[in-house]
Amino acid sequence: MARKLDRILVIDVEATCWSGAPPEGQESEVIEIGLCTLDVASGERLEKRSLLVKPERSKISEFCTQLTSLTPKQIHKEGISFHKACTLLETEYLSKKRVWASYGDYDRTLFLRQCAACGVDYPFSGAHINVKSLYGIMQALPYEIGMTRAMELCGLEIEGRHHRGVDDAWNIAALLSRLILQRSGEPLEL
Ligand code: AMP
Ligand code: MG
Repeated sequence: MARKLDRILVIDVEATCWSGAPPEGQESEVIEIGLCTLDVASGERLEKRSLLVKPERSKISEFCTQLTSLTPKQIHKEGISFHKACTLLETEYLSKKRVWASYGDYDRTLFLRQCAACGVDYPFSGAHINVKSLYGIMQALPYEIGMTRAMELCGLEIEGRHHRGVDDAWNIAALLSRLILQRSGEPLEL
């Protein structure tokens, strides 16, 4: 399958969480898949979207609502199943054919774990960009830094609410865009 390089799918996931370890019988599950499509040639962010996902083996704690702003009521009302969200990524965003990106390795490993646990087909390609590592390398930092610090160092303003997947994805895409636009010269024509 030829990989499509025209756009990068930037993903940021929010998950059920607690101030410490999960309560007995619960585990961290995806509650929001934030996505932003990034046009590689221009570095423009094209679209952003929030897919809310109903957790099946955990509850949204007050701690989680405070962190993410996502309430149990909202997720109950607007959420879709994890399976449906993965299918939507594949059909509407061609996620298996595209390069995708996230900040760190958390989102990728959570997807892998939840897909295995739920018997859901992993919706992404093997072409994952870890923007946290890439940023550190491109800026010759001695170690990786957090997303908000990286944006601050670049002079980029954080838009929306940090810890909402859709806003995080939009902001990560701005960082990745900066890195991409450091390319020398105009895009090559094949
Ligand atoms: P983020 O993309 O930074 O918003 O984080 C993704 C997910 O990681 C959140 O939805 C939480 O499940 C978890 N997480 C992030 N920060 C914390 C924290 N301080 N305490 C507990 N869980 C967290
Ligand atoms: Mg986030």
